[in-house]
Amino acid sequence: MTWIDRLVERDDARLNTRTEPVIAGPEAPHAVVIGAGFGGLAAAVRLGARGFRVTVVDRLEQPGGRARVFRQDGFAFDAGPTVITAPFLFEELWSLCGKRFEDDIDLRPVSPFYRVRFDDGTSFDYTGDAEAMKREIARFAPDDVDGYEWFLAKSREIFRVGFEELAHVPFSRVQDMLKIVPAMMKLESYRTVYGLVSKYVKNDKIRQVLSFHPLLVGGNPFNVTSIYTLIAFLERKWGVHYAMGGTGALVRGLAGLIDGLGGTIRLGEEVAAITLDETGAMPRANGVRLASGEVLDADLVVSNADTAWTYRHLLPERVRPTWTNRRLERSRYSMGLFVWYFGTKRQYEDVAHHTILLGPRYKDLLEDIFERKVLADDFSLYLHRPNATDPSMAPEGCDAFYVLSPVPHLDSGVDWTAKAEPYRRAISQYLSDSILPGLEDELVTSRALTPKGFLDDYLSFKGAAFSIEPVLTQSAFFRPHNQSEDIGHLYLVGAGTHPGAGMPGVLSTARVLDTIVPDVEAFRNDKKVLVAV
Ligand SMILES: Cc1cc2nc3c(=O)[nH]c(=O)nc-3n(C[C@H](O)[C@H](O)[C@H](O)COP(=O)(O)OP(=O)(O)OC[C@H]3O[C@@H](n4cnc5c(N)ncnc54)[C@H](O)[C@@H]3O)c2cc1C
Repeated sequence: MTWIDRLVERDDARLNTRTEPVIAGPEAPHAVVIGAGFGGLAAAVRLGARGFRVTVVDRLEQPGGRARVFRQDGFAFDAGPTVITAPFLFEELWSLCGKRFEDDIDLRPVSPFYRVRFDDGTSFDYTGDAEAMKREIARFAPDDVDGYEWFLAKSREIFRVGFEELAHVPFSRVQDMLKIVPAMMKLESYRTVYGLVSKYVKNDKIRQVLSFHPLLVGGNPFNVTSIYTLIAFLERKWGVHYAMGGTGALVRGLAGLIDGLGGTIRLGEEVAAITLDETGAMPRANGVRLASGEVLDADLVVSNADTAWTYRHLLPERVRPTWTNRRLERSRYSMGLFVWYFGTKRQYEDVAHHTILLGPRYKDLLEDIFERKVLADDFSLYLHRPNATDPSMAPEGCDAFYVLSPVPHLDSGVDWTAKAEPYRRAISQYLSDSILPGLEDELVTSRALTPKGFLDDYLSFKGAAFSIEPVLTQSAFFRPHNQSEDIGHLYLVGAGTHPGAGMPGVLSTARVLDTIVPDVEAFRNDKKVLVAV
């Protein structure tokens, strides 16, 4: 039985008899978490449940990070994640606090997972039902049905190794990486996602349908290792869900857990530096200094702020020989996103909850975005219509939407202040011509978030939407470790660390902490011994 089976089995008897977590007193070791994204909130819950006194600090006025909620003109817009997979990772956090997830969160399955619309107007309903998928594939390419079955079998095996065995392992030592090389070779991890998909299916449209998933975590399907086909399997095995009230309901739920554990969330306050004790052989994090000048002492610091930003701006270069400015600058970062949130005064009832609108170009467009870093005239879009499942997100008779377009990060040099409105209008026209007829006349509210906004609001290095790009040379041991290589008592969670971006990814970064952060007693007894490896 794997750790996932144990979680999914939801042992109610155990839950009912478990002792309530101890509320940490003022003497308990203090953990400061920088950032209230999903990674930071999950880390705070885990540390709180283990008896640490926890303070979370975020520069925004609300928790959630990229998953914050914009409310305007009666509409509610989840700013970021909308596709909820692997719900057991959330359920575990509730269970650690002696609570039941389903008492707080109403999770509903979404079907189809995605409606994929091609530029010629045809569309493919992508679901978790293998038979329905085969019927959809047969409509486009009967010869690819067998190949799809082989692909499914392969992605199941990749999931078993990539997620079940590796996602929660701290890749702190090179030996941890070397151990998995034979398994990775066997799974053909040297192939890209698109390369692996192409081995099994031949039709161009089916190749796109089976390979777009890495974009959901900031990777180019033509560049990232085929390990990322595990996302498709993750969705198939546990479904795609929506939290009633929006993803913001999950954020509010996690904040409630932290509160229940006696933790504190301080909003609207920026951390300007991680403070250090440099008296020992290795520097040790011992608190944070806020932009206001206030210092919060801590026994350990967890940064959920953007990883590159944490190293580049919150720590002096002399204490981080592993993550020098040069290395950070030369690393590859995920694409940016242009996100347009809008409300309409009518409902578009035929539009599915999740629609992917693939433009005329696939590989070439991705090269523009990831390699050439130019803003193309065409685009591929993801459209979110929560009202398909949840009427509470918009006033009666209206629809709340967001549409996102992958674009290059800020190295493109695009002046987003000037470009945002014409780019929005081009997207609006495309939607109007395709699935939202008459859109411009139906608009009642609108706002946009550009890569510049990702930099300004989330302090995301280069305005990247998903932090460090998930290519093989920046994965597992080669990704920033969850425990700083150079600074004791400093831990990192969130999209830029192992295993990476996306809600299941960042919740797993926090899960790694359970393995690498010593117990409360160890901090109480001998703080000096606790220097990071
Ligand atoms: C538009 C969009 C759609 C997405 N859709 C999906 C989806 O459908 N499904 C999915 O699984 N994933 C999705 N993702 C990815 C997912 O949302 C992210 O990978 C994940 O939420 C990132 O969480 P994080 O823990 O890295 O923290 P973040 O959300 O990045 O939060 C970090 C927080 O740290 C704060 N911070 C930074 N620096 C400081 C500082 N110095 N002082 C104080 N606070 C600081 C920031 O303000 C921010 O609140 C999407 C992402 C985006 C942008």
